[in-house]
Amino acid sequence: MVSYKELGLVNTKEMFARAINGGYAIPAFNFNNLEQLQAIIKASSDLRSPVILQVSKGARNYANSTLLRYMAQGAVEYAKELGCKHPEIVLHLDHGDSFELCKDCVDMGFSSVMIDGSSLPYDENVALTAKVVEYAHKYDVTVEGELGVLAGVEDEVASEVSHYTKPEEVIDFTSKTGCDSLAISIGTSHGAYKFKPEQCTVDPKTGRLVPPPLAFDVLDAIMEKLPGFPIVLHGSSSVPQEYVDMINQYGGKLPNAIGIPEDQLRKAAKSAVCKINIDSDSRLAFTAAVRKTLVEKPAEFDPRKFCGPARDLMTEMYRHKIIDVLGSDNKLAQLD
Ligand SMILES: [Zn+2]
Repeated sequence: MVSYKELGLVNTKEMFARAINGGYAIPAFNFNNLEQLQAIIKASSDLRSPVILQVSKGARNYANSTLLRYMAQGAVEYAKELGCKHPEIVLHLDHGDSFELCKDCVDMGFSSVMIDGSSLPYDENVALTAKVVEYAHKYDVTVEGELGVLAGVEDEVASEVSHYTKPEEVIDFTSKTGCDSLAISIGTSHGAYKFKPEQCTVDPKTGRLVPPPLAFDVLDAIMEKLPGFPIVLHGSSSVPQEYVDMINQYGGKLPNAIGIPEDQLRKAAKSAVCKINIDSDSRLAFTAAVRKTLVEKPAEFDPRKFCGPARDLMTEMYRHKIIDVLGSDNKLAQLD
């Protein structure tokens, strides 16, 4: 049993309370390799932003769970080396699908876990979430639950259609489970193909597809039921068209990849939404930079020569998200 406190990590409690009061959101970035982690820590440390490092079940399978945990521990030390004396870094399990997986993460040093029972019948979701909360809270680990279903595909989480969160369920769910934050469904979606072209309108100026707006009326109704309660948005990549264009220009094939417009996310971040999950944008930036370098320098075979530019492009993307979308720069409790 390793406590996250020994690793220099923090749970989400204090940073969420500050984010709600301050009208911004904490970035939750997924990682499963060295370059992603370097880019996340460089951007968040330079900008003095709290940050949530997310590990999915798929990432654990890909990179090895023990190695990822030590990488997160190393991230705390790296942030300090970058001049951030008091980093606030959360190690969070994304989409935990069983009590055993959540327990395993708590036991190995995670400071926060998500239990996603959203595909289960309501009562089973309540029972499973409550069981995880009971265990995690013994160790001061925070728990994210989910109500409502997001469309799209992310690692092992997939759904054809979305079901908005029902505001009439949120008081019962949070009080029965004791969860610390709630992921909701208001029209965001997993992956790089968040909407079908027929769901979108066309911007006459650019010819680009414009997705339907998020259901802010549902968010407002939830906030009215749960004043001051931390709300989480999954599937909130904006799928920047410059990365999609780069990928397609250098031999890729991503037709009609569509994300959530950043102005919608900025608006959400100013509300009780205090955690915004971004994964696909990092994958797109990485792939765009790797494709470009390999096409332009076909003789290159040192992975550092194409992973380095990928890391730089991801760092730039994370900086932009922190400053312009989430507003979490200079929001550490201790800025010195
Ligand atoms: Zn998700």
